[in-house]
Amino acid sequence: MNDQALLRYSRQIMLEPIEIDGQERLLASHALVIGAGGLGSPVALYLAAAGVGRLTLADDDAVELSNLQRQIAHGEADLGRAKAESARDAALALNPSCQIAAVTERLEGAALARAVEAADVVLDCTDRFASRYAINAACRAAGRPLISGAAIRFGGQLAVFDPRAPDGPCYACLYPPGAPGEDEELRCAENGVVAPLVGLIGSFQALEAVKLLSGAGRAHQGLSTFDGLTGEWRHFRVPRDPACPVCGHPCGRD
Ligand SMILES: [Zn+2]
Repeated sequence: MNDQALLRYSRQIMLEPIEIDGQERLLASHALVIGAGGLGSPVALYLAAAGVGRLTLADDDAVELSNLQRQIAHGEADLGRAKAESARDAALALNPSCQIAAVTERLEGAALARAVEAADVVLDCTDRFASRYAINAACRAAGRPLISGAAIRFGGQLAVFDPRAPDGPCYACLYPPGAPGEDEELRCAENGVVAPLVGLIGSFQALEAVKLLSGAGRAHQGLSTFDGLTGEWRHFRVPRDPACPVCGHPCGRD
């Protein structure tokens, strides 16, 4: 780090769990952010500002007027632009030294697997269950930690799934495919969402990524849910499901 970088990141470097070594680890790391909407906006902005060296931002949508109420990486001048490119430009404006790749196609199949393998951590900021299951399976296959956030109406949730942890669960242990409610979409377009809620959950995801990449603290455990109407958090244990179709042991399936 040169003097400018030492000054830029000084308020993190002075933190005992991070210090110079942790900041160097952040600068050398690569985060994949899938979805550049309500959750992906604060995630991309905070990770770039915090000094994560490389970001890949993936989103196949374009910015619409109804997004601006909560997707704070985009402005009026970005209407009609690809969200991945708009979010890249917003993050670069905060920190031009961050290397940011914008992916404007939906990441699926082999492209998703390659992108996950190339990253040190994956942040799921999508709003479709099909995408969430595909991202979870790709992270499990590649052994990459997955930081999952969701926000709808007044409620949000966060969970971290790290395949490297012994007996760590995966997203499909928590939400088995085909379970009741599985086809209820998370889409804000149909359900509405209050603006600061996505900032809250996205910031929580970004914090977990900064911890994980710098080596500070320990990863969030289980599932946390937040009720914005009462201001209450709840925390749940999430055991690994031996019969999980994604991470379960073959003997556990029958
Ligand atoms: Zn599982």
